[in-house]
Amino acid sequence: MESQKKIRQSDGNTTGASRKDEDEECCSYTACDKNEEREPSSPNRGDFSDPVYKEIAVANGTINRMTREELQAKCAELKLDPRGVKDVLRKRLKSYYKKQKLMHSAAGGNSELYYDYICVVDFEATCEENNPLDYHHEIIEFPMVLIDTHTLEIVDTFQEYVKPEISPQLSDFCTQLTGITQEMVDEAKTFNAVLKRAVSWLKEKELGTKYKYTFLTDGSWDMGKFLYTQCKLSRIRFPQFARKWINIRKSYGNFYKVARSQTKLICMLENLGMKYEGRPHCGLDDSRNIARIAIHMLKDGCQLRVNECLHSGEPRSVPVSVPFEGAPAPQKPKSRD
Ligand code: AMP
Ligand code: MG
Repeated sequence: MESQKKIRQSDGNTTGASRKDEDEECCSYTACDKNEEREPSSPNRGDFSDPVYKEIAVANGTINRMTREELQAKCAELKLDPRGVKDVLRKRLKSYYKKQKLMHSAAGGNSELYYDYICVVDFEATCEENNPLDYHHEIIEFPMVLIDTHTLEIVDTFQEYVKPEISPQLSDFCTQLTGITQEMVDEAKTFNAVLKRAVSWLKEKELGTKYKYTFLTDGSWDMGKFLYTQCKLSRIRFPQFARKWINIRKSYGNFYKVARSQTKLICMLENLGMKYEGRPHCGLDDSRNIARIAIHMLKDGCQLRVNECLHSGEPRSVPVSVPFEGAPAPQKPKSRD
């Protein structure tokens, strides 16, 4: 159980996809280790000549010298959330002062370019207690949680169970882990039908047409492994709209400057002073909790942005220098046949 968890949480892709399918080529970015989140309203080309940046640096220096108690007191005084570990409180205060100072300077902001919605996805899949490396996970729960980035609230959710076709019988381990029973998947539709409904749900919200949006996941596996493998098994092309996403673990680590070992779901919540709500490994509850972290980060001034994409069947980093853009309008992908 523990070793599987480690595998799941390592963010690697072990699908062993070797065929270089031209359809999977989404972007020509090269892997980029230094994928720092761009701060709200940071200048695009490193132009820090505006004196406001000197003021921000001075404020940051003061914040760096504060104790946890001083940081908490300052947050409370400014009516900011006083919960969280020291690094989180520091970042919260720095972002607050930066935002305040930039609002009153000529350096201005670029918030009109930002996504209107962020759609959190956390698939659940078939599994065994010790999945062999070549195990074909099939998606059994397709949840989505939609965050309005203007109101910083969850505005809608989607949840459908999916009938697995290659291994229709769930293992006891899988049911215990996810809470998904044999009956639930027996009554569910197949992946193609559920994907169609998911696309309709996204379309109804006018995402990618009227509103700018992107996907957000906890790690690289949801798109890079589960969806990628499922599309192959279901003989459909990988959906264009899901080719780029925000990996919140990376964003969280870069923003709060914490090690990757501190970016597991429970750990991120705890460091922000929150507790997991619901049932762990229920896809919808996982998605809701991931959304709570994302909202917290947005409130702390993090401009969450796409940082991973699928390239030749593998997840890759997207450097921050890549122009900011939302996902394309959702469309049901074409068959591979
Ligand atoms: P999660 O989002 O962490 O709930 O995990 C998504 C999927 O990864 C699960 O539905 C399982 O298919 C697989 N998984 C997660 N944790 C484990 C584990 N400890 N052992 C085997 N598979 C796991
Ligand atoms: Mg989950």
